[in-house]
Amino acid sequence: MKTALVTGGAGFLGSHLCDVLIKDHKVICVDNLFTGSAKNVEHLMKHPHFKFIKHDIITPLEIDEKIDFIYNLACPASPVHYQFNAIRTVKANVLGTMNMLGLAKKHKARILQASTSEVYGDPLEHPQKETYRGNVSTISVRSCYDEGKRCAETLMFDYHRQNKVDIRVVRIFNTYGPRMALNDGRVVSNFIVQALKNEPITVYGDGSQTRSFCYVSDLIDGIVKMMHQDYIGPVNLGNQDEYTVLELAQKIIKLSSSSSKIVYKPLPEDDPIKRRPDITLAKQKLGWKPTTPVDEGLKKTIEWFKEHV
Ligand code: NAD
Ligand code: UDP
Repeated sequence: MKTALVTGGAGFLGSHLCDVLIKDHKVICVDNLFTGSAKNVEHLMKHPHFKFIKHDIITPLEIDEKIDFIYNLACPASPVHYQFNAIRTVKANVLGTMNMLGLAKKHKARILQASTSEVYGDPLEHPQKETYRGNVSTISVRSCYDEGKRCAETLMFDYHRQNKVDIRVVRIFNTYGPRMALNDGRVVSNFIVQALKNEPITVYGDGSQTRSFCYVSDLIDGIVKMMHQDYIGPVNLGNQDEYTVLELAQKIIKLSSSSSKIVYKPLPEDDPIKRRPDITLAKQKLGWKPTTPVDEGLKKTIEWFKEHV
């Protein structure tokens, strides 16, 4: 049985990834529990093939047993959390990714980096293809994440060229689903929590900015497919259905039968105006596309939040 190490494994995406991998791998989950929670992997703790290590990837990690695959997901993903300690976010992406690449080199493991649509910044090309080089500020409040992730991609490709490390890079677009933290601060979890409490729904700006929302199980399927084929990437993973933030708010109010009213708050600095993935490459190389319609994914997510709010 092969061994997979998942950094950020107690987070939203990481815990779903551990659930899938445990079916046919030994899984080592590494997390500092900054935005993740041990509760997300509580059900795996007694599994004979699951191990949890509380560790911050900013410092090097030694593992005795042979590792075959590393999924590097450790990094706060919500703007609220990645801006909370911006310097640590840069460190997680740069030092953390270097440490995981060092581990991959030592174990001759294949390593997959969870990159992001944020490498495209506030995109001037729409939808975004992998060939688009992005429109990213080096000095804004989002730069710790955007530029951190860009540097992490650079490190992946330099370790590949210089040290022959076997890499895979995916660029993940906005993903939602059960186990997003209640205080995560991202749009889907904020709106659902507000709707279920019948509190005002906080739309930033006029709500005309767009995002494309991928359901978590589709995304995890794409990540695992990426790991087990030959193309090194980068490959976009996301849903192509694009909605304005206002449309999303209205959808969530309707699907949760909420009496919430919409309130408008200032748009955060450098908030991208539009975002939608071109997933032609994922279809060609991985035979992957999302299959969960947004209404269905939102219904499942709302059901989960009902039990946790
Ligand atoms: P999350 O915040 O729920 O998960 C991140 C996990 O990493 C948490 O468990 C956190 O405790 C852990 N972590 C953070 N810094 C760490 C460190 N220095 N050392 C060890 N553990 C650390 O976020 P998520 O949505 O699950 O995102 C997972 C990954 O996917 C991130 O790298 C994120 O950038 C990327 N991503 C996510 C999305 C999305 O929409 N969910 C989109 C693009 C990219
Ligand atoms: N947003 C919003 N209200 C909220 C949280 C977010 O209107 O309570 C907006 C935010 O300004 C952005 C979009 O929703 O335009 C997506 O934000 P999120 O933080 O989820 O992700 P990102 O901006 O990183 O795509």
